Amino acid sequence: MDIVIVGASFAGLTAAIECRAAYPEASIHLIDREKEVGYFPNALNWKLKGSLTSWDQARISLVKDAEQADLDWKLETSLIGLNCGRKTVLLEKGETVFELAYDYLILAMGASQIWERSTGELEPRLLSSKTIGAAQASLEKLRDAQSIALIGGGQIGLESLEALSQLPVRLSLFEAQDSLLAKYFDREMTEKLRLKLEEAGLDLHLSETVNDISLSGSADKVKLESIHGQYEADYLLIGTNFKPNSALFEGALELNSDGTIWVDAFLQTSQEAVFAVGDLIQLPYAFLGKAYLPMINHAILTGRLVAQNLVDRKRPLKEVNRIISSHLFGYYLTSVGLTEAEAELRQEIRTIRLQRPFSDWDERLVDFKLVLTKESGRILGGQLVSKSQHLEQMDSLALAISQGLCLQDFLEQSWLWLPRSRPLVPILVEAANLYHRLLRAEE
Ligand SMILES: Cc1cc2nc3c(=O)[nH]c(=O)nc-3n(C[C@H](O)[C@H](O)[C@H](O)COP(=O)(O)OP(=O)(O)OC[C@H]3O[C@@H](n4cnc5c(N)ncnc54)[C@H](O)[C@@H]3O)c2cc1C
Repeated sequence: MDIVIVGASFAGLTAAIECRAAYPEASIHLIDREKEVGYFPNALNWKLKGSLTSWDQARISLVKDAEQADLDWKLETSLIGLNCGRKTVLLEKGETVFELAYDYLILAMGASQIWERSTGELEPRLLSSKTIGAAQASLEKLRDAQSIALIGGGQIGLESLEALSQLPVRLSLFEAQDSLLAKYFDREMTEKLRLKLEEAGLDLHLSETVNDISLSGSADKVKLESIHGQYEADYLLIGTNFKPNSALFEGALELNSDGTIWVDAFLQTSQEAVFAVGDLIQLPYAFLGKAYLPMINHAILTGRLVAQNLVDRKRPLKEVNRIISSHLFGYYLTSVGLTEAEAELRQEIRTIRLQRPFSDWDERLVDFKLVLTKESGRILGGQLVSKSQHLEQMDSLALAISQGLCLQDFLEQSWLWLPRSRPLVPILVEAANLYHRLLRAEE
């Protein structure tokens, strides 16, 4: 049996390791267009912050396991065509183009951050860390940088902003929304962070959409244009949405309107024996039906599942929950489930916000918000901004959301999961009391 996997990153490496365990006799061909694969995309940030002494430390541990899995590695080899009728893929390595037959094909080619209107000529002025080669080249470019513009005030843009703020450069951030991390946090939850960025002298442009990017006349600067003005910087980092690398499959596989590859509950595409995983697909998402959630844990999850479902349909996808966590400019920010802005579009809700103590940003700081249904108090989402890390407890909240628990149920059961000593527990108890007081006041 020949299993061909295209893409040797989080999803593809996991799929290869799991396929080897499940099908010991199979020939497994792992293909990637890059020469060096399997690095965290945060490598450049870590290097700038001094937490990496060598690039190797940014390598994901899956690579070592895959190296021991007796795979046929085909690196610096790109997928350029697919013939589902003949069950072959067309590959290109340097000048050579060749066909490879598959019994099962797993597409794990991820996504790219691209600027729709950009052309290749911008490349020398762009900073990127999607591949290790790009991260190394970007570090070189930064040696002579005096000003950098970033587009996107989401997790990637802000984590990069923080890392770049270690350098003596002028930083400008452009974000189309009126607040930071707007996909995951309601506006008021990130206000303190915004103030902190302004205090640090960063040039923030919220509610400002960049419409055009070009090179300056002498090509030594990048020019950004919005309806508010024109700006120049030495380099540009794009931290906007991902676009699945699926263009190659138009006409061959069914695609969703956002460019993701359509898959069934067992990760099979519209073609038999062709599967897709990781950043190429949407996942069933609590409350929203399906959503595009390009994240490492989802790539690994689908990489595992696909191996189980390759020959027999064994383990369908279950609903996932969104949990994101970032440590930015001294604050831990964690969001699970729906924000208030997302939830109120779908049903009547209640929100509860608790701030502890808020006069100064000390170690005990907690700013916590819960989003609940009005009727039953079912937990829809939670957001936490704090000076210390409470990810484990937010994980429990994510589990409660997945199980459809209401706040009271969660509190009653949380004694099992969360020791009373955990700082978030009293906050949750107080949130429940507040919620009940709110309901009584309405009666
Ligand atoms: C700067 C940055 C920071 C991020 N930070 C986080 C984070 O903190 N937490 C988190 O959960 N997620 C983060 N992400 C998202 C995360 O990187 C992705 O969700 C994850 O990498 C998806 O894994 P994947 O295996 O599906 O695809 P990818 O990691 O994108 O890998 C796809 C692979 O396919 C190969 N490939 C593509 N096309 C072809 C082709 N035609 N032929 C051959 N090979 C091909 C590529 O070379 C690549 O190796 C970040 C992303 C970026 C860019």
